[in-house]
Amino acid sequence: MELSIQPLPTEVVHLIAAGEVIDSLAAVVRELVENSLDAGATRMVISLWPQQWRVRVADNGCGMELKDLQQAAVAHSTSKIRNCEDLWKITTLGFRGEALHSLAQLAELEILSRRALLSEGWRAVYCSQGQPAQVETAAIAPGTVVTVANLFANWPTRRQGLPSSAQQMKAVQATIWQIALCHPHVTWQVWQNDREWFTLSPGARTQQLLPQILRQVRPSDLQELKVEVTPHSSIQVLLGLPDRCHRHRPDWVRVAVNRRIVKSPELEQTILKVTSRTLPRDRYPICFLHLHIAPDQINWNRHPAKAEMYLHQLGYWQDQITQAIEQALRISPANLPEAVHIERVGKLLKAAEATGVYGVSRSIQRAPDSEQEAIDTEGKDTPHPLIQLQAVAQVHNTYILAEHPSGFWLVEQHIAHERVLYEQLLHNWQLVPKEPPAILRDLSLAQQLQLQRLGLEVEPFGDQLWAVRTVPASLLNRDDCAAALLELSWGGDLQAAQVATACRTAIRNGTPLSLPEMQTLLDQWRSTRNPRTCPHGRPIYLSLEESALSRFFRRHWVIGKSHGI
Ligand code: ADP
Ligand code: MG
Repeated sequence: MELSIQPLPTEVVHLIAAGEVIDSLAAVVRELVENSLDAGATRMVISLWPQQWRVRVADNGCGMELKDLQQAAVAHSTSKIRNCEDLWKITTLGFRGEALHSLAQLAELEILSRRALLSEGWRAVYCSQGQPAQVETAAIAPGTVVTVANLFANWPTRRQGLPSSAQQMKAVQATIWQIALCHPHVTWQVWQNDREWFTLSPGARTQQLLPQILRQVRPSDLQELKVEVTPHSSIQVLLGLPDRCHRHRPDWVRVAVNRRIVKSPELEQTILKVTSRTLPRDRYPICFLHLHIAPDQINWNRHPAKAEMYLHQLGYWQDQITQAIEQALRISPANLPEAVHIERVGKLLKAAEATGVYGVSRSIQRAPDSEQEAIDTEGKDTPHPLIQLQAVAQVHNTYILAEHPSGFWLVEQHIAHERVLYEQLLHNWQLVPKEPPAILRDLSLAQQLQLQRLGLEVEPFGDQLWAVRTVPASLLNRDDCAAALLELSWGGDLQAAQVATACRTAIRNGTPLSLPEMQTLLDQWRSTRNPRTCPHGRPIYLSLEESALSRFFRRHWVIGKSHGI
């Protein structure tokens, strides 16, 4: 049936607009909490009664005077911007002046508010047009308490379209978590049906907040880094150290821009790209990336709830983010978390104590002093302030014992070398002619095609034999060249081939190394881009920090003093 075009009645227009901003209980929480944060609140008490479709947010923010309280829910009224130009200077979370008006239309709205310096507070109840229908004085602490009740009561189809209340509460929790991560200085107390549901304590850094949300993660599993990009912009990276934690889904790859979590597929991809090959197969990093950018670089008009935005100079930011994450992944004195590994080491020492075996001392190869001197002078002119690591000994022909100013490390020689070789191959994957060619037997068509995909020249060489005439440079003179090529023929992309080649050509465990060889390996390894894990995601080193050791040896005991120690 064809209908003629007619303008919609004003109430319908308004209802549609209201529904765009407020589409769920989580959206109510988001809008109210954002208002509280814009009012400078540092303490938030959120109460939910999902069966009654009721939400209350109480804050300790600046509060409103009577005149503002009367104006608050009128359509398009805001205290946050005044004119078009202000749209490019937005530093608040809200600015459209729509949320309270929409809530007045879709629910019963009541606000109690008191300015900090005034002795008296006010209570207003609003009609569905957002006008105050009832106003009276109220005895409350400075701040604001907004109650939204009977949400969507006159819009049954809306309610029916929403998921179960349990699921809605999950969405509310996710919303609060997201906002809390962007505002670590705020205290959150959340109640459900008059019982305390969860709380979040404030912290100076996001590093203290994330472990309250992701219970299995500890602050020492995380590296937090802030990079000033220009005087007015910075990148804050909170990264789960790849040798400490990761997820089986990319659900904790989060991007925030100017205190708001946004969906940004482009920036999320950037994070995944930089962290790839630092994690085990099919695992994803924990990464919270917070950009603080001049407001004129962002256009929030991409999504009604500001869940997406347009970022000017996206490519530039992607480069900056890549560098920041690379910096967070590096091992340098500046970003060596003090507590790293302490817990793991604690367990290790306990296990060692229990069995009474201190294996390290038995098969240690001590370094002659002259060699040690030669090494001391090395690495002094490295441009990066990389951590100074000095090879001291090899243990079990497998671990390099390396000393540094605040402790020592055990570095597994094979995977450290694998990391070095892999990064070299990434930058310089060379195929060279091999004469005579490597001969492979019984290749299937798929295997031949796979080798050709990797750029190798393969041709028939007789009955069930194939000749490979170009090979990766690092395999050229190896006895196991044919076996290595066969491994590459089984599949995988170029990166997988580079990983396999690095693994095959890296120093085996069990190989004795001289001190200069160990030192060279340590120097190469510590300046790799991702020294924490091998390209398969295995951890490369175990650190024993002096602080943990002094605790273990009870060096704080007073007896020491009496012996002059
Ligand atoms: P916006 O946040 O876009 O300005 P809202 O409809 O959410 O629009 O709020 C309207 C106005 O009400 C805000 O600009 C602010 O001045 C005031 N307001 C709302 N909530 C609070 C609060 N919790 N504390 C102080 N003022 C508030
Ligand atoms: Mg608002």
